[in-house]
Amino acid sequence: MTETQTFSIASIPGDGIGGEVVAAGLRVLDTIAKQSEGAVEFDVTEFPWSSEYYLKNGHYIPEGGLEELQKHDAIYFGAVGTADVPDHTSLWGLRLAITQPFDQWANIRPVTFLPGVQSPLRKADDTELDWIVVRENSEGEYAGMGGRNLSGRGPGNEVALQTSLHTEKGCERIIRFAFDLARTREVKKVSSVTKSNAQQYGMVLWDEVFARVAQDYPDVETESVLVDAMSAKFVLHPEQLSVVVASNLHADILSDLGSALAGSLGLAASANLNPDRRFPSMFEPVHGSAPDIAGQGISNPIGAISSAALMLDEFGLHTEADRVRKAIENATGAGILPRDLGGESNTVEMTEAIVTQLEAIH
Ligand code: ATP
Ligand code: MG
Repeated sequence: MTETQTFSIASIPGDGIGGEVVAAGLRVLDTIAKQSEGAVEFDVTEFPWSSEYYLKNGHYIPEGGLEELQKHDAIYFGAVGTADVPDHTSLWGLRLAITQPFDQWANIRPVTFLPGVQSPLRKADDTELDWIVVRENSEGEYAGMGGRNLSGRGPGNEVALQTSLHTEKGCERIIRFAFDLARTREVKKVSSVTKSNAQQYGMVLWDEVFARVAQDYPDVETESVLVDAMSAKFVLHPEQLSVVVASNLHADILSDLGSALAGSLGLAASANLNPDRRFPSMFEPVHGSAPDIAGQGISNPIGAISSAALMLDEFGLHTEADRVRKAIENATGAGILPRDLGGESNTVEMTEAIVTQLEAIH
């Protein structure tokens, strides 16, 4: 008998559609475990940290909460955000309160084109397109540095400073990560994105580090592109992209653009990685809590399920991860689509369609 490999997962459904898409991902993981016939097991513990919890208790994460999370192999996150709490309070209270202390400095966001899904790109339905946005996830524009009301001159004269922090070490580790990732891909190319013509300190440092690190990867093609030009390139020449590395803010925006080009924000997966493996990594769909459709059971679970596939990759279960991706392709390819992609399937129906495909390719 083979020994059972057990992976412990901390699940944080959070707000809005977070709960239903996390349930969808866990349903898929459960299927993977069943199919393994005892070889793989997922031990899931749910944490009820949400905006509702915050409004009742005054905090998103209770004392000792991070220590609890630390005991797990990975964190599976839904979404955070609600009309009753300012966005920056919920984001810093829960999501960034995990990514920052757990030093999840690499955020990868694949842009995946699925069969049967119409893309607004001219090369619509071109499933050959596929690239990954690598987002610096620990500093840059989201370093949280700055302050308000510095002028002291009273109403109407307020001044706010929002500082970007770029360190040589921070730039270097994410850029190296991007190059290492490019080496694992068919098209070995890294596109670096900055706005170094206008932001002459941090972004120029980034450009310099990129040029230096590139010398260690002569087998990888490179380009440096300004973020405005890269936005156009996403739309006009996406076939030229393989790995796109950018700062916290730029990569956040570009990955939303990428997911919209692929068909919907609801498709996009992401992993917040601590590549040093001192802390657990966190897997979450790129989309937010989607208050406009929350509670209706119609959200697209594909982004969350693909994020669960990235978690399987992190566990070293690459065959299983590929099977999940294939099951998603087979489901959409068969014309089974959620509402945001013009289909009829609700969250549970879409999930079950993917599970059925998973069972078929076992
Ligand atoms: P947050 O502040 O939590 O990041 P947001 O304002 O960025 O939220 P999202 O929650 O990401 O917004 O939603 C943006 C739009 O995309 C909404 O109209 C939402 O309904 C839609 N959307 C997002 N995720 C999904 C999904 N999984 N399925 C269907 N529609 C989705
Ligand atoms: Mg958002």
